Amino acid sequence: MSARLRHYVCGSTAHDLSAMFRGGAHETREFPAGVFLFDRGDGIRVLFDTGYATGEWRIGWRGTVYRRLLPPKVVPEDDVARQLAADGIDPASVTHVVLSHLHPDHIGGVSRFPGATFVLTAGQQRSLAAPRLRAGIFTGLLPSWWDEASKIVLAADAFRDVDVSGVSLRAADLLGDGSYLVVELPGHAEGHIGALVDGRVLLAGDAAWGSDLLGATAELRTLPRAVQHDPAAYLRTAALLQDLADAGIRISFSHDPLGPKELLA
Ligand SMILES: [Zn+2]
Repeated sequence: MSARLRHYVCGSTAHDLSAMFRGGAHETREFPAGVFLFDRGDGIRVLFDTGYATGEWRIGWRGTVYRRLLPPKVVPEDDVARQLAADGIDPASVTHVVLSHLHPDHIGGVSRFPGATFVLTAGQQRSLAAPRLRAGIFTGLLPSWWDEASKIVLAADAFRDVDVSGVSLRAADLLGDGSYLVVELPGHAEGHIGALVDGRVLLAGDAAWGSDLLGATAELRTLPRAVQHDPAAYLRTAALLQDLADAGIRISFSHDPLGPKELLA
């Protein structure tokens, strides 16, 4: 069987581009919360992020502040497990869940995968240990079994230099066969990562707001820039991604609109 990479959308949020970027269009853009399933074809299924949580979020006053700043639009049909099942994929068959970072629109569906091995970074673990409102981490969105869940926590020494079309990335070979490289894309959140799938498609999480907005990263206004974990690293990562895009690597950001569902076809 050949490998597949499928794109799903699990909720969305909307913002005025002119409020986000200097020179941005006076236009409200919907930003979907993307989830990507890599199916190696031999029983290994790796999910990248999990979208928004459906139902009520029990995360207190900080959650109220978050929801006011970044109002989520999410209905029961957006649930990641529900969408996989509708696609003929038993959610219990997902072997790994890679989390680009721990913001609410990426961890909302974690509770649907109690049997999976979660892949995250030491930096993400640190941000969980001391969650602050500015970091956008709400431990209340994680299930009660999170501490006991099977995990692969990638420390800095798990990543090595890999050349991808002439661009140097820091990568960890998740499955040992080169088909799924977890890559460091620092800046947006502590320990933020992406994944290079089949050497062809880079899942870039929130390393920028979208493919067509990558070049506008330097024009981010003060507030959206200030909420980045490391604004200077965020800019460096955007430049690196531009080099990869120029080299022909397809880049899918978490908030890109849903285009073709099959990304390796
Ligand atoms: Zn984020």
